Amino acid sequence: MIRKRPQSGILPDRPTVVVVGGGFGGVECARALRKADANVVIVDRNNHSLFQPLLYQVATGVLTDSAIASPLRRIFERQYNSTVLLADVQHIDISAQTLHFEDGTFAWDHLVLAAGMENNYFGNDDWAESAPGMKNLAEATRVRARILEAFEQAERAFALGHHDEVDACLTFVVVGGGATGVELSGAIKQLAVDRIAGGFKALDVSRTRVILMDGGSRLLSGMSTQSSSAAQRILESYGVEVRLNTSVTSVTPEGVVASGDTIKSKTVIWAAGVTGSPLATQVAEQLGLSPAHGGRVSVNPDLTVADKGNVRVIGDLAQLEDPKTGADIPGVAQGALQMGGYAGRAIARELSGRSSSGKITPFKYRDKGMMATVGKGRAVLDAFGLHLSGFVAWLVWALVHIAFLINIRSRLAAIWSWSWAYVFNDGLNELIIKPEKTAKKEDSDSA
Ligand SMILES: Cc1cc2nc3c(=O)[nH]c(=O)nc-3n(C[C@H](O)[C@H](O)[C@H](O)COP(=O)(O)OP(=O)(O)OC[C@H]3O[C@@H](n4cnc5c(N)ncnc54)[C@H](O)[C@@H]3O)c2cc1C
Repeated sequence: MIRKRPQSGILPDRPTVVVVGGGFGGVECARALRKADANVVIVDRNNHSLFQPLLYQVATGVLTDSAIASPLRRIFERQYNSTVLLADVQHIDISAQTLHFEDGTFAWDHLVLAAGMENNYFGNDDWAESAPGMKNLAEATRVRARILEAFEQAERAFALGHHDEVDACLTFVVVGGGATGVELSGAIKQLAVDRIAGGFKALDVSRTRVILMDGGSRLLSGMSTQSSSAAQRILESYGVEVRLNTSVTSVTPEGVVASGDTIKSKTVIWAAGVTGSPLATQVAEQLGLSPAHGGRVSVNPDLTVADKGNVRVIGDLAQLEDPKTGADIPGVAQGALQMGGYAGRAIARELSGRSSSGKITPFKYRDKGMMATVGKGRAVLDAFGLHLSGFVAWLVWALVHIAFLINIRSRLAAIWSWSWAYVFNDGLNELIIKPEKTAKKEDSDSA
């Protein structure tokens, strides 16, 4: 039988499914709709889909931006019923079934909200300038510039005899002991000790201090206690200072105050928390729901919201209890991918009239495990009741990440970069790129 190819473009005589957010969940959802007789419109404020778990490697110069991101237009090039719109969604009107951009309004018949999370400074938004987070490529590039600049500043201060400045330049504080904080602190230490030390002739940058702090009693609180202890042990053997039960009370360009202790540092990085996109709060409020924990939206077992069968929230933004564990489905890539596929298939079935029996199979989360890298060639892993740490865990981590990168180009780029970094202790992207305005201002300041 020859299957008819869906027509391309936004056609007026078929329903429009809008997917807000082209991350893990949004892309998977739109792909699952590839055969639907619908206009599948993917809206994102960035022109690319990003593999966030590897952002820390962009921030520490191991991978280039394009190894972990792919243009949405490329991803959907061959999906004939799809349209990609580069737009920042400012408002969603549920009753009018419209999205509002800065320059216009767009109507939908089905909405899938997959807009993910934003950095959360827990009411201290003024800390953001001194302690950037790492949720997108722009932020990771900024963090990379800050890290590399700190080493440059240290060498300059040393050469100029400003010895009191050197220690603050060579002290890096990472706030938040989840996967991002653990991976980033190990990678900064590795950058200093293994990769760039040889290029600094005046100064011994291998004496760099990396302090990882967390308010809780263990690192990687989402993983097993075995993995938490192993991660801490490996990081400490590497020279990272781990401070637990430590609350940050102030962040300034000079450093942090944490549990009463003042630490002078030119580079503070925020990995302490995230909160839902403001679009989630808008949707929840319009549907009379109170926002769920972390700025998310409570969804029904089929990922629809309240009594709106044509509104779905997926990925990090969806709050849904896993009946198997009694805990919320975690905000991880696996959850977003699985929800995206489920939501896309459900809409496709509905549009084809195949779900008229009214019987709904609830979304089921399949937990495939958690892992995090800890310095060079080492990782911790919890999967299927197993707890691994060390090189074997890192190998599994590397294979899984390669498999989940979005396309063959990204996979080859990652394999090449990791092999190069592993063998030659060299990163592929150790460039400081500052926005032109900052660069010009700094030039005129120093003139
Ligand atoms: C640094 C970091 C490390 C991580 N490490 C891991 C890990 O090791 N393992 C793991 O499983 N998970 C990890 N995660 C979590 C994982 O990346 C998320 O669970 C996953 O990305 C969620 O997918 P999503 O589709 O819900 O949202 P996202 O992937 O965040 O996608 C949201 C999309 O929505 C777009 N968007 C947001 N607001 C708007 C708007 N107003 N208008 C238009 N577009 C908008 C964004 O540009 C983005 O493309 C990590 C996350 C981060 C930030």
